[in-house]
Amino acid sequence: MTSSDKNFPGRDHDHGVCIESAFERAEALCRERGAKLTPLRRRVLEIIWESHAPLGAYDVLQRMNAEGERNAPPTVYRTLDFLLKHGLIHRIESMNAFVGCAMSADAHRALFFICRDCGNVAETHSEAIGEAIEASATRAGFLVETPVMEISGRCQECYDDE
Ligand SMILES: [Zn+2]
Ligand SMILES: [Zn+2]
Ligand SMILES: [Zn+2]
Repeated sequence: MTSSDKNFPGRDHDHGVCIESAFERAEALCRERGAKLTPLRRRVLEIIWESHAPLGAYDVLQRMNAEGERNAPPTVYRTLDFLLKHGLIHRIESMNAFVGCAMSADAHRALFFICRDCGNVAETHSEAIGEAIEASATRAGFLVETPVMEISGRCQECYDDE
């Protein structure tokens, strides 16, 4: 196990560092691709990065409008689509919610550990699992488009609390 495998966000971690590096990656990626990180996109990304717990589109909208703004759902969906397309966020299918991408931004096969107690999600990557899925898909004559790997369970801090 390498240190990058132990990436579940602990309660005492400095989340400011997570946010900072997420924005550095987002800015670099947008620059590289000639995409614009508009104030609206930045705002939505900031809201999603409030924590490591995924947020639904409706929660994002509510936070945006908390101070009396009137953003409409299509605005939020369009912005989420942009962030998804560029790999800056991921959709957690089992929760129908979004979480910031914690890895470098190139298209990758993410594996998510979802804590059912605190709701935090940790993103990790496994070439071995990706290859195993490819291999069984090939045997089955199946073309993989979206390999979603969401594993639910409990993080160490939650099971240590018992
Ligand atoms: Zn964090
Ligand atoms: Zn990711
Ligand atoms: Zn937990």
